[in-house]
Amino acid sequence: MTGTSTTEVKCVKCKRIYESVVIDHIDLSEDRELVRKIKSGKANRVQCPKCKKVMYLDRSIVINFEPQNLIVLYDPNLKKKEDIENVMRSYESIIGFNEIFEEIGAETEFKVISDIKKLKTLITDYAKLYM
Ligand SMILES: [Zn+2]
Repeated sequence: MTGTSTTEVKCVKCKRIYESVVIDHIDLSEDRELVRKIKSGKANRVQCPKCKKVMYLDRSIVINFEPQNLIVLYDPNLKKKEDIENVMRSYESIIGFNEIFEEIGAETEFKVISDIKKLKTLITDYAKLYM
């Protein structure tokens, strides 16, 4: 199931602040129409209600590669190795904290990716197998 939330966006053109629904979580086995958008880094498309300027937000998205036991956090803003390691550590602490996650975590691989090319490769491989 696709998980969404509402966020505030500031238009780069007219500076208007508006609210938009964005994607936080995607399940590849259920959201096939989104696959192409994710691959091009354009999953979160927003449009200014005033001047109609279209923007693509650089937000993090959690992608579930079911039935592969793989969960990817794609975040184009995580450029440094230490930032990625911090995210991995907080993921591990969530798993350690929660019994249900501990069960899932044991058999699920978690990856943090900031490079859209790497994400594309993963999704292309997934599509060959399951789509
Ligand atoms: Zn605008």
